[in-house]
This record gives sequence, C-alpha cells and structure tokens, in this order.
Amino acid sequence: FIEIDGVHKSYGQTTVLRGIDLTVAQHQVVTLIGASGSGKSTLLRCINGLEEISGGEIRVGGDVASGRGTDVDRLRRDVGMVFQHFNLFPHMSVVRNVALAPMQVRGIPRVEAEEQARALLARVGLADKADSMPDRLSGGQQQRVAIVRALATGPRALLLDEITSALDPELVAEVLAIVRELAEGGMTMLLATHEMGFAREVSNKVCFLHQGVLLEEGPPEQIFGDPQQERTRAFLRRIV
Ligand code: ATP
Ligand code: MG
Repeated sequence: FIEIDGVHKSYGQTTVLRGIDLTVAQHQVVTLIGASGSGKSTLLRCINGLEEISGGEIRVGGDVASGRGTDVDRLRRDVGMVFQHFNLFPHMSVVRNVALAPMQVRGIPRVEAEEQARALLARVGLADKADSMPDRLSGGQQQRVAIVRALATGPRALLLDEITSALDPELVAEVLAIVRELAEGGMTMLLATHEMGFAREVSNKVCFLHQGVLLEEGPPEQIFGDPQQERTRAFLRRIV
C-alpha cells in the first residue's frame, strides 16, 4: 500500500536518507528501528508530505505521493500521522480536537463530526474525557486522543513516530494496547519505535535503518533472533 522507491533526502549538504526501498503491504504492520539520527522520523515525514524528498518516489495506494503535483490534502486524509509529542490543540476540548479535521478536511457538519468523535473516544475508553481540556489528561490519555484524532478522517494507513517515548513507563501499555487493536483490525501501519518488545510482538516486518540506509529487513523473529548484519547485531546488543 505504501511503496518507497529509492528515496533520498538531504537538508543542504547533509544527506539523511540514502536510497530507501521499502514496501508496506495493506494490513501490514512495519516497524522502523535504528539509532537516533538514522532517519526514521525523516522517512515518516516524507511519506506524509511534511518533507519534500530529494530523489526517488513514494506511492500510496498506487498513486504517486511525492514530488510536484502531489495532492497533499488528499495524502494526509489517506495517511494519518501521530507524533511523539501529541501536539493536541491546547485551547480546544478533547472532542473538538478530534472533530476538527473531519470538519475542515471532509466538510462534515460540527454536530455530526462531534458525534463521531465521541464514538471514537469511547472505543479507546475516553468517553468521559471528551469535554475536558487536553492538559487535564495524563500523557497516555493525551496520546490516545492523538491516535483517535488521526483516525477521525478515516485514513487507510497510519504513521506512528515514537508514540510511547514521551510517556512514563506505566502509561506505555495503554497506548500500545490501542496500536495492537488497530493491527488486529487490519490497519496498515508504519511505525518508528525504540520499544523492541513491542516491535517484535506487533510487526509483520522490522526494518533496521543505519545512517539513512535500510541495512536489513525481515520478520521480527529473524531481526531479533538471528540478525544477518553485524551492525544490526551491534545495535540490538546496545539497547536490549
Ligand atoms: P530519533 O531516534 O532520535 O528520533 P531518527 O531516526 O528519527 O532519530 P531523524 O529525526 O530522521 O532521525 O534525523 C535524521 C538526521 O536528519 C539527523 O542527523 C538529523 O540531525 C537530521 N535532520 C532532521 N531534520 C532536519 C532538518 N530540518 N534540517 C537539517 N537536518 C535535519
Ligand atoms: Mg525520530
């Protein structure tokens, strides 16, 4: 569903992605792992049109999603993104946060959008927080709202960038539980994480990025159990 073909990305003289080839099939969960600075976030941002790529091509659902003429609004409707820092709008209630994009992007009337937002919030156990302001919620609750907000426009795939790394350990589980549920429901996802246990459990495929190169990819049992590249082994030794 997401096809990345020889993608390069540079910021001025600094090359961050050096020819990435990667496919995320429909209903697949693919995880990016790799050291800080290896290019995980940059790749996700390129897929969502937040960054322009310097070379190669990205396709989403068969349509070219990079370069001139890309319909970025449509792209963001098709591919939702959730960030490490939840980026909720602080001056809007939870239900407004969730209803905003469907109103703006899809032109759904407020009453209907908020009704849908409440239903989505109920699905992640946050029905009683719908009218709260974001700063009244725990980090884990805020991140669940951010996921719900990304789901509200009905995306066909989700990009998740370190969505648990700003959370206290006891709040991580509730966010991972939602990702697991989405995976079971068949949502196509590409995520970057430092949570190797989670990557192992939820992913169909794990990709190891090293200095902007996709050095190794494979099923989690292989990457974590029998990595083929010395760099992958060294990375896993360091963090496990
Ligand atoms: P982390 O695990 O710490 O989140 P990452 O794998 O997500 O790391 P990126 O954020 O993609 O890494 O960064 C890759 C490289 O790109 C880094 O060396 C970073 O300094 C550089 N970089 C990212 N954004 C910019 C930018 N706007 N301008 C210049 N360099 C950037
Ligand atoms: Mg990152």
